[in-house]
Amino acid sequence: MKTAILIVAAGRGTRAGGGIPKQYRPLNGKPVLQRTLKAFQGIAEEYVVVLHPADQAQWAEIARALPQLSVKTTLGGATRAASVSAGLTALSPEITHVLIHDAARPLIRQSTVRDVLSKLQTHKAAAPALTVTDALWRGEHGLVTGTADRAGLYRAQTPQGFHVETIRAAYREADLAAADDVEVARLSGVDVAICEGDEENIKITRPEDFARAEEILATRHKERDVDIRVGNGFDVHRFGLGYHVILCGVKIPHTRALQGHSDADVGLHTITDAIYGALAEGDIGQHFPPSDPKWKGADSTIFLKHAVSRATERGFMISNVDCTLICEMPKIGPHAGAMRDCLASLMALDADRVSVKATTSERLGFTGREEGIACLATVTLVQP
Ligand code: MG
Repeated sequence: MKTAILIVAAGRGTRAGGGIPKQYRPLNGKPVLQRTLKAFQGIAEEYVVVLHPADQAQWAEIARALPQLSVKTTLGGATRAASVSAGLTALSPEITHVLIHDAARPLIRQSTVRDVLSKLQTHKAAAPALTVTDALWRGEHGLVTGTADRAGLYRAQTPQGFHVETIRAAYREADLAAADDVEVARLSGVDVAICEGDEENIKITRPEDFARAEEILATRHKERDVDIRVGNGFDVHRFGLGYHVILCGVKIPHTRALQGHSDADVGLHTITDAIYGALAEGDIGQHFPPSDPKWKGADSTIFLKHAVSRATERGFMISNVDCTLICEMPKIGPHAGAMRDCLASLMALDADRVSVKATTSERLGFTGREEGIACLATVTLVQP
């Protein structure tokens, strides 16, 4: 399953007040669209936002505020259907599933997204919805003129998820007046599975919705609806014959090499272990047993990428990494910048969230005698 998040943000949505489209109005200091995108971080392979041509400057600011998220943009059309079609066209060919989401639902929880994705394993389309619990009335001129049966009625939410080819085909024959993507899919005969919606996944439409969204954010903050974890790692590799060492993914000429079953990158092993530690998912030796010949001479970036993907799959973002190499030689300082850049790129982090530093052990102990290199690392994971 290769998933894309498609956010339709081309609407003018000025009913919410403030004189600018609601997706760019600040909600607790951050534009709504920025919060919406951030809510999906780590959950998909691709992010596509459909923009109105007049909003490019506002978008540029959001893109700057989300450097960890690589977002493709495309321009929308005159109708929502035209905008969704433009977004579907912009998806990369390898994408198999797409979740189409309203820009104005910034409070979407990853648990709802996961429910939709899991329904897509057995259905071609799925979307969250809530049952109607209030009695339903008809009214005119301020008077109740009748009641309606609420049985079997749902309030539709987004993200609405689809197999890409299914929704593309549906849009090719779409009725442009359809209310949402579920209706488009249904018009072409596709069954849409319902999963449990979330009362807090509100669509910001009117000015008072901003106040309600701010209250929800404040409550989440109070409930500490944020899972913060710290993991530590420690590793040692001994020196043997050779002409270079690989530390934090960077090859450094040296008079000896580090020995190990893999490429002996003590830095990457330590950070990998710290991530597994934060997740309470064992250690590198359990995931990549040294007894398995498959890992002989392996590039240690494989191990780190596995740990990062485990964190991502469980909804965590890496907040920061701090790594200390302990050795007399080689001198780390001249290579620390390259190591930091390499780690940042391997973990898709900004470089200012990655620290590589070094110390000697004052010529004491095995590192002092230059028998090997030790490494310590701490990582912080955050699940928003
Ligand atoms: Mg090791």
